Amino acid sequence: MIVLPDGSLIFPWQLGVWKFAAGQIDHWTSRVWKAGAEQLGRVPFIENSMVTEWYDLWLSAVLPVRPPPARERLAGSLIGQCLGDALGFVVEGHSREVCQEYVEEVLLTEKAGTIGRSSHKFGQYTDDSQLARELMESYIACRGFDPGDYSRRIAALFSEHRVVGRGRASTEAAARLARGVHWTRSGVPAPYAGNGAAMRAAPIGWMFSRSDIDLVRAARDQARITHTDPRAVAGSVAIAGAVALAVRAVPWTLKADRFIERLARWVRPIEPSFAAEIERLDSLRHREPDDAVWSVSRAGQRPGDAETAGRWPAAEGTISPFVVSSVLWSLYSFLRSPNDYMGAICIAISGGGDADTTAAMTGAISGAYLGLSAIPRPLAERLEDCGTWNYDDLLALADSFYGVVAST
Ligand SMILES: [Mg+2]
Repeated sequence: MIVLPDGSLIFPWQLGVWKFAAGQIDHWTSRVWKAGAEQLGRVPFIENSMVTEWYDLWLSAVLPVRPPPARERLAGSLIGQCLGDALGFVVEGHSREVCQEYVEEVLLTEKAGTIGRSSHKFGQYTDDSQLARELMESYIACRGFDPGDYSRRIAALFSEHRVVGRGRASTEAAARLARGVHWTRSGVPAPYAGNGAAMRAAPIGWMFSRSDIDLVRAARDQARITHTDPRAVAGSVAIAGAVALAVRAVPWTLKADRFIERLARWVRPIEPSFAAEIERLDSLRHREPDDAVWSVSRAGQRPGDAETAGRWPAAEGTISPFVVSSVLWSLYSFLRSPNDYMGAICIAISGGGDADTTAAMTGAISGAYLGLSAIPRPLAERLEDCGTWNYDDLLALADSFYGVVAST
């Protein structure tokens, strides 16, 4: 069943696909169905074929709402990441209680954008989006993914003190790169397993959205520049993979079980325990955020992880920068609210802790799935990076990036 933005339902039934108006199926009786349903078309395949991607393609052709074009979805992914980052930055590092209050008192009362963070007015995004943006610039300049070029750009960003909210591993790796260490040896060793590689991985999902092998290889290599713990590398593959799957899916038709299964398959060879945690999302996504956050905040942790993950202790019930819990929480937030960008961002931030990063990762996936039009424009137009790289600049970057992606 598909829920469209206007609340109407699309439902395959009796070898046809039927549309029901919002609220029409209050009573689950065939009389109600037959009375008001509108048949959009008949399924031109035998029943077993309904689970194939051909069914998705056919379904997209009969949907009454046209999916946004890929160019608009790419812009949505970049803007969605930056806006999630900026909204989460306001409460980054705070407890779940503080973050929930911010969601309920500010984001859900149309006061979003009225609060900034210390010296930064609202709209400033941080290292997560700065490094993803740099990855896109590198791809455009090299007309392909070149980890050597990207690593030089990371080193320059840090040495020029242009990174807002820098993480420990990336800072240390950037210092090593600046001393001439090759990118294959610059990453911080295990057991450090923060989310610094996952938070910037979204553009990889666009670069290789049609090639599973290249996608995994590039997500792994871009992670190794700063992180070598297999969990940190697997987190990069999970986020890049989630964006690629969001791009492939027709909006409003996401099949969450297939999404989860495919992500786990990509992650398993790198870190089986992380893949097992991703598989748990298939049941976890049915639980309310207040309940699920307790399970996710503990996921995948080993002794010592809490201290090595980042600046804050991994308090139970709050999402720390530890890669397994923060990536899982981002995937959960998207799967919990796949058809509503701000709904997914509010869930991500309500997990507390590393709220800018979880909202950035969630926003990149949601924006890729729903497109730019799903993102509140008045807020997005206030994005900036210390007076540079505003909304229009980011859109121009997304456009150039799309041009290279489409031509390679
Ligand atoms: Mg950040």
